[in-house]
Amino acid sequence: MTYPNTQLFIAGQWQDAAEGKTLAVFNPATGKEIGRVAHATKVDLDRALDAAQKGFEAWRDMPAAERAKTMRRAAALMRERAEAIAAIMVQEQGKPLAEAKVETMASADIIEWFADESLRVYGRIVPSRNLKATQMVLKDPVGPVAAFTPWNFPINQVVRKLAAALGAGCSILVKAPEETPASPAELIRAFADAGVPAGTVGLVYGDPAEISNYLIPHPIIRKVTFTGSTPVGKQLAALAGKHMKRVTMELGGHAPVIVAEDADLELAIKIGSGAKFRNAGQVCISPTRYLVHESIRADFAAAFAKYAQGLKVGDGLTAGTQMGPLANPRRITAMADLLADAVQQGAKVLTGGERIGNEGNFFQPTVLNDVPLSARIVNEEPFGPVAAIRGFEKIEDAIAEANRLPFGLAGYAFTSSLKNAHLLAQRLEVGMLWINQAAAPAAELPFGGLKDSGYGSEGGPEAIEAHLNTRLVSIMNV
Ligand code: NAD
Repeated sequence: MTYPNTQLFIAGQWQDAAEGKTLAVFNPATGKEIGRVAHATKVDLDRALDAAQKGFEAWRDMPAAERAKTMRRAAALMRERAEAIAAIMVQEQGKPLAEAKVETMASADIIEWFADESLRVYGRIVPSRNLKATQMVLKDPVGPVAAFTPWNFPINQVVRKLAAALGAGCSILVKAPEETPASPAELIRAFADAGVPAGTVGLVYGDPAEISNYLIPHPIIRKVTFTGSTPVGKQLAALAGKHMKRVTMELGGHAPVIVAEDADLELAIKIGSGAKFRNAGQVCISPTRYLVHESIRADFAAAFAKYAQGLKVGDGLTAGTQMGPLANPRRITAMADLLADAVQQGAKVLTGGERIGNEGNFFQPTVLNDVPLSARIVNEEPFGPVAAIRGFEKIEDAIAEANRLPFGLAGYAFTSSLKNAHLLAQRLEVGMLWINQAAAPAAELPFGGLKDSGYGSEGGPEAIEAHLNTRLVSIMNV
């Protein structure tokens, strides 16, 4: 299985970093170095910024229909190349091959939806109080965008930002994750091969803080979009605020799953447990806090633990693997620390709780019950394969517990009562709520959070709107 080294993509050219620096890339299933990624410094960033400005002007000035055609060509290339790209993603990120294929194929759907939506970026005419004036509301692309994306969905996290920015007529300079550089580079390659003008898409890697500190205040950058942890998001949003830049922040979550007394228990167990271990729990909308009515908690917890025990954990390229390794050794340490704290505070480990072997970053699918509210795991985003179960008596108490944390990204609930469903819909402070179903994000749906989970949306017409300036032009007929 081959794995490519990754270069920077600046002004329409693949290139090494000006100073020749590179960083190592590791396979999380073996811990071994598999390749290198170019490490940009200021010289590269200056060239990328200059190209982003030129690329913006070229892309903005293309007819929307031409831009949409180019985007559709990129989508077709992603579909054609999906097998090979997915295999690259597994080697650098660890997820099972089937999940990597779904992510790669989904990127084509996302690009196509935004290509279509880009044809519907309309302004409006507002009737004037003075009949001689024509009042026009114009929508223009905001300008070059700086995007910062994480390693858990190396392609999906980039394509949501890229497709929305291009759909609005902006150029975009992506700082993709150094841990998983090669699969997002394939997404950028698809756009390059589809014929976007030089500089319209750019790709850099390096020191994340150094790059964001340079790009965000830079006058060429007009919008900042970040997906990652809440603490980093707050830093970047503050910097963007200081320089008056438009911002979209898609940050951490701690999704509650409320299983009401009247829930279809079989459905709740099937969906609740299945969703937990996707991408080894390293998902911002991963279900994490299971709040289960006391009358069914014991049955729910036992079935959940049985499912977790039966999961096949292994290298994502091995047939039959259901859960791969964690993406980096930091996550193993984080899981071990959270579990030690929970157990010390009285939580019961129903299954799992340990690292598997000492090669690669494998961790057992873990289910905890009776987790006290003081345990870190029900307060901090776990971002790993651990489920924490607690009980409740009244649905209002479950809602209060769900809303207790500063996060507000995703939420889930299982109930067969319309009354409960409406109450949950009205009261749960989350940007996305799925009732009696697994998460089903799609390009046409808003994707984003409330409170400390950030602001702005990465889906639906809102995602394009976030890249547009609204201007008024009034022409008086004299
Ligand atoms: P981290 O907070 O160090 O980094 C998170 C992401 O932000 C990484 O991609 C990193 O490269 C980037 N980053 C960090 N500092 C930056 C800076 N100053 N400027 C620009 N980018 C910067 O944590 P980590 O160990 O990589 O990941 C762990 C935590 O991050 C998780 O617990 C989770 O909360 C969060 N995370 C969230 C998502 C998501 O989808 N929302 C994805 C990955 C990680």
